Order: sequence, then C-alpha cells, then structure tokens
Amino acid sequence: MQTINSIKEMQTFSISTIDEGQSIAFVPTMGSFHAGHISLMEEGKRRGDCLVVSIFVNPTQFGAGEDYANYPRDMERDKQLAEAAGVDIIFAPRVAEMYPPNYQTYVNVEEVTKNLCGLSRPTHFRGVVTVVCKLFGIVKPHVAIFGEKDFQQLVAIRQMVSDLNLDVTIVGMPICREEDGLALSSRNTYLTANERKAARCLFRSLMRANELFKEGERKTNDILRNVMAVIEAEPLANVDYVKICDAKTLKDVGEIHQVSVLALAVKIGKARLIDNIVLNPSDGL
Ligand code: AMP
Repeated sequence: MQTINSIKEMQTFSISTIDEGQSIAFVPTMGSFHAGHISLMEEGKRRGDCLVVSIFVNPTQFGAGEDYANYPRDMERDKQLAEAAGVDIIFAPRVAEMYPPNYQTYVNVEEVTKNLCGLSRPTHFRGVVTVVCKLFGIVKPHVAIFGEKDFQQLVAIRQMVSDLNLDVTIVGMPICREEDGLALSSRNTYLTANERKAARCLFRSLMRANELFKEGERKTNDILRNVMAVIEAEPLANVDYVKICDAKTLKDVGEIHQVSVLALAVKIGKARLIDNIVLNPSDGL
C-alpha cells in the first residue's frame, strides 16, 4: 500500500492506472476507521482493480461551533487497517492544497439537501458534495462506494453525479452496527459509558417503527409518535429531528405508499448521532 498526499501525484497515478486498462474503485472517508469503513473497502476490492481510499477531514462540511477541530484522527492506525483490508492507495491531501487561499467554487445540490440534516446543518451538504466532486476529479474512479448510514449524503451524491454527468458508478452499502444495534460511527468515541448505553435508544426506536410498519401502519404521524416516545424515555437523548421522507426526493410524506426512509438525528452528550431505516411497502408482498 502506498500513501499519496499530493493532488498532482494522485492524478498522475490514476491516469497511468487507467492507461494500463485497470479500473479504479474509490472510498472517500474522514478516517478514524471502523468496521463500516472496512465493509466499503471490501466492496471496493470486489468492484475495481485498484482500490483508492481517501482520508480527509473536510473543513467545509463542518459548521461554526461543530467538531472539526476535535474530530478523531489516527492516521497510523488507519493505514494499518487499510493495508489489512487490501487497499492499494491511501490518498490523504492537505487542507491547504484542497482549499488554497483563493478557493471559491462550491457545488450545491439544491433540493434533496434541504430537509433532514440540511435543516440544522445548512452548509453541510455543500461542503460534502464539493469535496466529493473534487475528489472524483483527482482520483478519477470508475466506481465509488458510500454507506447508507449517511442516507441523505448518498442521495445528494447520486443527484450530483447525475446532474453533472459524471461517469462514476455510485454504490450504496448497508449500515454496519454494533451487537446492540448502534450504528458504527467515528463520533461514537465521544460517548461516555453511560451515554453509550443511552445511545441504544436510536436503534430501539427504529425497530419499534419497523414493527409498526410490518403490522401495516402507514400513517407517518402515528409511527413518529412511537419513535419519539422511545427516544424521549431516555433522559440523556435530545432529538434534533425524526422524520419519514420519500427515499428519492427526501420530502416529508404523510402516509407511506412509496419507498420511504425514517431518518433521525439525536444528540447524546457531545455526539450528534444519525441513523435510518428504509420502509418499503413492497417488502414481504
Ligand atoms: P465518514 O468517514 O464518517 O465520512 O464515512 C465515510 C464513509 O463510510 C461514508 O460513505 C459513510 O456513509 C460510511 N459509513 C460510516 N459509518 C458507516 C456504517 N456504520 N456502516 C456503513 N457505512 C458507514
């Protein structure tokens, strides 16, 4: 495995890889790897000849007062895990090269970024989509792998790729969870032991929703009331949002008659945790 820090060097590597007739699979990350990241890398191995993983804590996707400075970083551990997963190239650009002083171009996906996390993090997706677009220009992947844990991010990136006619196949991968259901996240390291226990309420609330949905409940408000009750029973948890949206447009739905996503964001201590579950009326038919 090789580590590349320079943008030019990454571009030159990708051009010669493509010239040799090899395909490039790409997994963009902010590092601090867990099994969720590794599952994306394993899928990348299956889908491309050469696997590039980027590690870049992207400042433009953090709002004022968010955790950019404290976001967990551990390059040496990440390199070991990536090497064990069969990664060919770690691309870890420097902030000063990604965003030089005269930087002024941003990519904004207008509609699907408005709801959910867009409500409390209004500049977040502009930063995410911009950096992914830049990384695609540098790494030149044939296929890029993303986790469904960040459901809105995945929808926004698919939209960007379609709108800008980028020749990249986007693959979404299922959420990796701890044994008690908590979705793996680099931000779980912020949780104290008590908060970690409290965080189980996210998955418990999703399972409650799933149960109601399987019993035939289709009214969004009735499901959301039950979800809120599960989370609010946990004193350490503060709901940012809990919503049910059309899985493609991410607009709120009143009743679930199309593939929908129940998405939530909950603050526990210093951590803002997100999770989701897809509710598909055709399942089990
Ligand atoms: P991050 O480093 O948090 O920006 O995440 C990098 C990629 O890993 C994104 O595509 C995430 O959606 C994905 N990811 C994060 N957590 C998980 C998880 N628990 N399961 C699957 N994919 C995940």
